[in-house]
Amino acid sequence: MYKIAMFPGDGVGVEVADQAVKLIQTIAKKFHLVFEIEKAPLGGASIDKFGAPITPEALTLAKNADAVFLGAVGGPKWDNVETSIRPEKALLQLRKTLEVFANLRPVHMFPALISKSPLKEEIVSGLDFLILRELIGGIYFGTPRGIKNLPGGGEEGVNTEVYTTPEVERIARKAFEFARRRRKKVTSVDKANVLESSQLWRKVVTQVHKEFSDVELQHRYVDDCAMQLIRNPKQFDVIVTTNLFGDILSDESAMLTGSIGMLPSASIGSHHALYEPVHGSAPDIAGQDLANPLASILSVAMMLEYSFGLHELAQSVEKAVQKVLDEGYRTQDIDQEGMKKVSCSKMGDLVAQRIQ
Ligand code: NAD
Repeated sequence: MYKIAMFPGDGVGVEVADQAVKLIQTIAKKFHLVFEIEKAPLGGASIDKFGAPITPEALTLAKNADAVFLGAVGGPKWDNVETSIRPEKALLQLRKTLEVFANLRPVHMFPALISKSPLKEEIVSGLDFLILRELIGGIYFGTPRGIKNLPGGGEEGVNTEVYTTPEVERIARKAFEFARRRRKKVTSVDKANVLESSQLWRKVVTQVHKEFSDVELQHRYVDDCAMQLIRNPKQFDVIVTTNLFGDILSDESAMLTGSIGMLPSASIGSHHALYEPVHGSAPDIAGQDLANPLASILSVAMMLEYSFGLHELAQSVEKAVQKVLDEGYRTQDIDQEGMKKVSCSKMGDLVAQRIQ
């Protein structure tokens, strides 16, 4: 039996999480597996019910589960709540508590969607790489931080980029392990020509590489990597980088494949894992059954693969998505002339029906 903690969250998070549940229930029935899914509010929904974006009960539920699934949080309704209880605080707290230090974002170009990419077909066709972003360290958490008044007037804003050897070692090791299952190439991205924290990052990644001599290692500066992602993204297999650089490069990479509604993610630690679509709560289309549920459905595939070791089922979900797209079904964000436009829930039905 696999225990899943399910946090649908807010806006389209709820709609796409419903499609994830539908898929999991279909898989359970077809393949005689037992998934115990327990739901709890998170983000704005939790603020409305409990006055806080995440509760100790929700954290316990997440810690006791075999895997955690999250829709999306936030929305205009909570934009003006006090900073300490903003919906996004729930994400940071969940990631920190579960110690999910590696955020994985596969960047995969589905052939049926090539025309949705802003880049030329020859640059993106067959595109398939993985970004590993360090998720619970670096400048988003380093101290000192804050804004203070200066004696002579004006203010000073400070953030600190900090990485320690063990923090870099564990993410580097994950990157080499993933590369071993793929095309055996790691690109480590830093700014070692300017930042001392990057110099340590590069030194430690190089050290860890000695355990993985069958994998090729390349170092790139972040500015160069940002250019290469547009010029020749097919050169990459696994990219590993810091929290800040990964935040930016993974969004840049996301756009290569066309729609944010297609992008799954996993955040993995030594004991826990959290799966979520990359997109937010999309308040502009929420409640209209218009969202693309494929990012959410592909996040379930990652859960089957990485948390439950059900490789064939994970592949079956990916194939079902590919089949539905090849058959011409499209949600509005990826719609094109001559295609069959469907709702979020219909897309969820179609994928579930095609699971073999
Ligand atoms: P967003 O990802 O919600 O939306 C950006 C654009 O993409 C919108 O036009 C939206 O309609 C579209 N879009 C997003 N998901 C889609 C889907 N599944 N199908 C079709 N179209 C989709 O980003 P935003 O507008 O910057 O943020 C909205 C809210 O979501 C904010 O409150 C933000 O803080 C929150 N947010 C949450 C997460 C998360 O929970 N992980 C991530 C990003 C943003």
